Amino acid sequence: MPTDRRSPEPREPVEPAAFAPADDDHPREECGVFGVWAAADAAALTALGLHALQHRGQEAAGIVSFDGERFHSHRALGLVGDTFSDARVIASLPGRAAIGHNRYATTGDTVLRNVQPLYADFEFGGFAVGHNGNLTNATQLRRALVRRGCLFQSTTDSEVFVHLIAISLYSTVVDRLIDALKQVQGAYSLVALTAEAMIGVRDPFGVRPLILGRLPSPAKEGGWVLASETCALDIVGASFVRDVEPGEIVVIDDNGVRSIKPWAKQASRFCIFEFIYFSRPDSVVEGTPVYEVRKRIGAELARESHVPADLVVPVPDSGVPAAIGYAAEAGLPFELGIIRNHYVGRTFIEPTDSIRHLGVKLKHSANRSLIAGKRVVLVDDSIVRGTTSRKIVEMVRAAGAAEVHMRISSPPTTHSCFYGIDTPERDKLLAARNDVAAMARIIGVDSLAFISIDGLYCAVAGVARDPARPQFCDACFTGDYPIPLVDLASPANDRQLSLLAEG
Ligand code: AMP
Repeated sequence: MPTDRRSPEPREPVEPAAFAPADDDHPREECGVFGVWAAADAAALTALGLHALQHRGQEAAGIVSFDGERFHSHRALGLVGDTFSDARVIASLPGRAAIGHNRYATTGDTVLRNVQPLYADFEFGGFAVGHNGNLTNATQLRRALVRRGCLFQSTTDSEVFVHLIAISLYSTVVDRLIDALKQVQGAYSLVALTAEAMIGVRDPFGVRPLILGRLPSPAKEGGWVLASETCALDIVGASFVRDVEPGEIVVIDDNGVRSIKPWAKQASRFCIFEFIYFSRPDSVVEGTPVYEVRKRIGAELARESHVPADLVVPVPDSGVPAAIGYAAEAGLPFELGIIRNHYVGRTFIEPTDSIRHLGVKLKHSANRSLIAGKRVVLVDDSIVRGTTSRKIVEMVRAAGAAEVHMRISSPPTTHSCFYGIDTPERDKLLAARNDVAAMARIIGVDSLAFISIDGLYCAVAGVARDPARPQFCDACFTGDYPIPLVDLASPANDRQLSLLAEG
């Protein structure tokens, strides 16, 4: 039985406690979370789970384990494999319970103190938490907490959970957590670990995914798994049990799974961009295989914006399933006219526009013999700044394409995401400043088309968007933000925050 609930060992270098505003004008983190309860080698399983969720965050990774007496933690910048393929690191994380986190922040403050899971020693014992999503009132909460004397150790919005739990007057961990959750606004899927339980939480709108799985066990029912996506169950051989429901807290201990629903039931607003781009194509998200959805989106795109052509070429990798669907529907050959070099990171995480340009060149190259003299339909999932598309089109034209038509398997990205997908500020979004014809000119294509919002909804869910009660969060395409953007609406908060940071 757990007796000693001391701080994680070994202690990591923690930068001096500092009060600082969040990473940049609005903190954005795309992340993957994973947790294991009641299984041998929990940390090794967690490392595998995080590896399968690497696409959700590539800047840093961390694992906290509990061995029945003590918590252990290891967090590092870089890819999961850079850190957790080292047997000594896994050996330093003993126990039958562990949680882990992959972080994908924007530029700026990628420092160890922001790497999750966050860990704190409370009067009730140790508590570790990993957060996927973004809080929209974190700045306001942080200001209030600092006024009360809370000393923040990181600049991530997720740290407000820790302080709200610490100051809660409720006695049990779960009640304190609920108390904290009732004060935050935004998108969150959480995986938390205490000495007694592993806890999973999804915000009331269910914006980000979280699933429950079970590990196989020869003797009896195996341990439990929480994960952002089913691909992380597959890697550890766990079976899918169910989605954690929007607004649900699951408390997993040796007695099984207890479900708590502290909020009145409301219509969920799952992020539709998870289907378009973010989730891995072999995952089943909200009961729907992502790969199939992407093919359906491609087919719908072909119906909506058919153009005479010789080839359908995906922008790899994210454009591939939609291009397969497009080609099948259009009756055109699907060809790998662009080859991706897998040994460079995602272009999106490069910090400056000039490096991003370089990144695209490093990442893709045209398959000349296929493309020369052909009318090519290029299929990609989204246009954000337009950098990728511009470069790809230039490359395909240089390879001798007779015509280049671009088809995008999402509607124009006209608004920034404040719920956990990394998008730049609005004025950097190509579609926020230009109509489709202007974008086509900028990108240099003969024609450009995006799937319609209703076409997207039909492909994902089989029904058109209900404008009165949209079935998904599609704010990046419509500007319809389901959760109030509290911090953004209070610029005074930001000013005061920077003054506090400076002072
Ligand atoms: P851009 O070059 O800025 O227009 O970015 C568009 C490309 O980035 C597309 O090929 C997408 O596959 C990819 N992309 C879109 N959204 C994201 C995101 N949130 N994080 C990383 N990559 C993205």
